Amino acid sequence: MTSILNADLHCHSVVSDGTLTPEQLAARASANGVELWALTDHDEVGGQQRAAAAAKAHGMKYLTGAEISVTFANETVHIVGLGFDANNPPMRQGLEATRGGRGQRAMEMAAGLAAVGIPNAYEGALKFVGNPELISRTHFARFLVESGACTDTYEVFRKYLTEGKPGYVPHRWAALKDAVGWITQTGGIAVIAHPGRYKFTANEEYALFSEFKAHGGRGVEVVTGSHTVAEYTEYADVAREFGLAASRGSDFHSPLESHTDLGTLPYLPKDLTPVWELLADRIQ
Ligand code: AMP
Ligand code: MN
Ligand code: MN
Ligand code: MN
Repeated sequence: MTSILNADLHCHSVVSDGTLTPEQLAARASANGVELWALTDHDEVGGQQRAAAAAKAHGMKYLTGAEISVTFANETVHIVGLGFDANNPPMRQGLEATRGGRGQRAMEMAAGLAAVGIPNAYEGALKFVGNPELISRTHFARFLVESGACTDTYEVFRKYLTEGKPGYVPHRWAALKDAVGWITQTGGIAVIAHPGRYKFTANEEYALFSEFKAHGGRGVEVVTGSHTVAEYTEYADVAREFGLAASRGSDFHSPLESHTDLGTLPYLPKDLTPVWELLADRIQ
């Protein structure tokens, strides 16, 4: 398969912090012309069977997916896994452990918000949660918009939920080596998600890509809803430099919140190897 394919290999359902069900996402992806799809919920594979079945019903090809939260150099990095076996026990247990600290973190976030005059944020966020094991900052953001504290979720993150802000609680996620291991152990491909979003120095970014490769990582998101057009070019160069395959995905979460809809991004640059070329035997 060439890079000229409407593949969307990054999005979220109600099983993590999206607002649509796997079936609604499949219908939307299909209506937008997506040919190859993956649902990549944060730290969860609970939606995979439904997504695969819905993809099939719409005539789309499907790859198993997840977006794993990792801590690298004291920052959170997201690793997208594609084409792995979602029933592999180490993957299941690893994701469960990664989800494990979210409840406590959410209560600490609520305490931070209460201290600046926003009470009951834990209960408020819970109303937006589809999966009790997966309470995320996005659910707090939706509550703060609903309560009128901010006009949109981007403003909430800027004012309350990012480093140094009252609702931010540092958290230790999975190790890079482990996340890449869970994915590659069953023949999946590990992909660095939206590298343009991280606040790394050039040296730290180099270390991330080098260590990722050393652990068996093989892909990087080049064309993503989280990148500017300039970053498509920048990370296409990084893919060439490190010999990584390229991925493409909207990172769609919600019709009301997301700037990039499923299946609407530009194609990958033609000279790059698309991740789906490495996953031909994994496509359902
Ligand atoms: P968590 O895993 O609980 O830390 O939440 C991370 C999620 O919050 C991401 O996957 C995005 O959906 C959302 N998010 C993170 N940073 C921002 C931001 N600056 N603006 C909007 N949404 C964000
Ligand atoms: Mn998210
Ligand atoms: Mn992400
Ligand atoms: Mn994402």
